[in-house]
Amino acid sequence: MQQEDFVECLKGIGEKTAKTFAKLGIFTVRDLLHHYPRDYELFSPPVPIGALKEGSLAAIEAGITACAEVKRVGERVVVSCNVRDASGLIHLTWFNQAYLKNVLKRGIHYIFRGKVVRRGNTLVMDQPKLYKREEYRKLLCVLQPIYSLTAGLTNHTLQKAIDQTLCMVEFPEDYLPKRVVKENRLIARKAALREIHFPKAKDTMIEARRRIVFDEFFVFAVRMRQLKENRRKEKNHFHFCQTNGCEAFLENLPYQLTPGQEKAIEEIRRDMAGEYVMNRLIQGDVGSGKTVLAEYALLLTATNGAQGCIMAPTEVLARQHYEAMKRAFAPFGVRVLLLVGSMTAKQKKEAYAQIAAHEADVIVGTHALIQEKVNYQKLALVVTDEQHRFGVRQRDSLAGKGEDVHVLVMSATPIPRTLAIVLYGDLDVSVIKELPAERLPIKNCVVDTSYRPTAFHFIAKQVADGRQAYVICPMVQESEEVEAENVLDYTERLQRELPENIVVRALHGKMKAAEKNDRMERFASGEIQVLVSTTVVEVGVNVPNASVMMIEDAERFGLAQLHQLRGRVGRGAYQSYCIFVNGSQDEKSRERLEIMNRSNDGFYIAGEDLKLRGPGDVFGVRQSGELQFELADIYRDAEILAAANVAVGSLSLEEYEQICTKIEKFF
Ligand code: ADP
Ligand code: MG
Repeated sequence: MQQEDFVECLKGIGEKTAKTFAKLGIFTVRDLLHHYPRDYELFSPPVPIGALKEGSLAAIEAGITACAEVKRVGERVVVSCNVRDASGLIHLTWFNQAYLKNVLKRGIHYIFRGKVVRRGNTLVMDQPKLYKREEYRKLLCVLQPIYSLTAGLTNHTLQKAIDQTLCMVEFPEDYLPKRVVKENRLIARKAALREIHFPKAKDTMIEARRRIVFDEFFVFAVRMRQLKENRRKEKNHFHFCQTNGCEAFLENLPYQLTPGQEKAIEEIRRDMAGEYVMNRLIQGDVGSGKTVLAEYALLLTATNGAQGCIMAPTEVLARQHYEAMKRAFAPFGVRVLLLVGSMTAKQKKEAYAQIAAHEADVIVGTHALIQEKVNYQKLALVVTDEQHRFGVRQRDSLAGKGEDVHVLVMSATPIPRTLAIVLYGDLDVSVIKELPAERLPIKNCVVDTSYRPTAFHFIAKQVADGRQAYVICPMVQESEEVEAENVLDYTERLQRELPENIVVRALHGKMKAAEKNDRMERFASGEIQVLVSTTVVEVGVNVPNASVMMIEDAERFGLAQLHQLRGRVGRGAYQSYCIFVNGSQDEKSRERLEIMNRSNDGFYIAGEDLKLRGPGDVFGVRQSGELQFELADIYRDAEILAAANVAVGSLSLEEYEQICTKIEKFF
């Protein structure tokens, strides 16, 4: 059996089971092997009945005291019986397993394993599984895999199918050079797959995991190297020279560029005039001023007679860029066009026509830009803003809209350097280290809910001084399950508690796009002074006049997210404030929020967040699809990532080429 064979080739897997497998994305036996356990279960020795605790999952070894009873309760058949050991007696029940009546005979001993629950005054075991003593002994103290399932599929079926596959499938020779295997002390791939599904012990499972994670990173790094080499070879057909328009644009900026911005502009200018196309990442913390760099590149493109586009992750942000660029580019006769999902079919059709006829020079939009119907006449530059919200693939499909186009991506994700090198391995990197000089550092405070009246008073004072404020709530409306502040009720309350002349409005994801845009625009223009919002304002939005950010139930957010939210203020010359309201009594939450209090530095916060929360979606990178690994976790496994990257870098050209072909067969 080969890895590419379909699961139907396994014994006991017919068309029907294959269909349920397909629901989990499992088609071939390789997919099956890559369906890693989501957890493991440890079977522990049986305990005396007298020692059972409510709520626990436990095993007992006991004898049946009388034949099982069968009752009908509504639609269901309930089988029950009493069992006893030296320490006591317990009642067991099963639903819809009538056949058990013939199994549960008086005097027979079994090991029963199930959840202990309280019914009335007594403890019972619900739906326990039955094992013969010998059978249970084999399971004892071995980690049993637990898989993600779907309706109609049991853990047992999956286990059996995977076990069968492991016995029958032929693996090609290891794709990794022996040297790499040895240097990294890796176990064989085949052994690793067996161990990850059916580990003999915890430490062998960890070794197995390390091998598989290494493979995932290694393959990723190889693919990035391929991407990089392909890109390198792309000749630049768009040699853009500095134009009068660009000179004027830079001269007339209302501020002095920071050294980081200056350097990035220089790099962009050199790239776009160079021999090969530009592939550049701009990395800079929130508020470091990345937009102006995109504007420069777009203007350079447009004034050289070609088209450029910029993709933003949300419509709110796309519209904001659109308005800003329309204004900024008007003096140079550059035509800016908006393309977003909420436009009517007719509006979109018109936009497509203008793009195709090169009646638009700069196109600003969302995912709508990578729709099939969009055809550019002379696309030379694509920019993605907030790249971490997109996947590598989306970046690529936007670039695919033109031939050998310049690529500029912007990201504020404070990721570790080792990761950035791999993740953006195909890009040159410009880092903006500093914030604009005249920025006053944001003043922070962490408070509890009793501080609210003071906070409202403060907001009123700031508004009286001409400033604006955001208040963030985790929920849109009241919910029975979650006790947290919600935008709708909060807006009403705030309108009541603040002086009447202050305009308070709500903004949230459930609103129609047009309504959202309208609210956002009215906030940007100063007509709305206090915006009560969910995290929809989190990415990129720029209202420099806003000076207060108040975050309710702040403990519910990740630190990186809080940092992004805080980044909405302190974007102008005014002293800004961020108020983190801790809605819980929890000491841990307070400790975590104190990190925000201590520092305004995204990198520092990211590091601390990692230490506290451990692995996981610290920056939402995993959710965003930027990096979709099956088992690997870019934070927890950062060391393996670095090792895999070093290994890929150490390959000789010959080894590298061999590996590229082998990988295709192997994975
Ligand atoms: P981000 O890097 O988060 O995308 P923006 O590009 O939106 O930041 O810039 C934030 C704000 O800072 C904007 O109002 C912008 O006009 C302003 N800004 C950008 N560069 C400078 C600078 N060198 N000096 C002062 N203000 C600047
Ligand atoms: Mg931005």
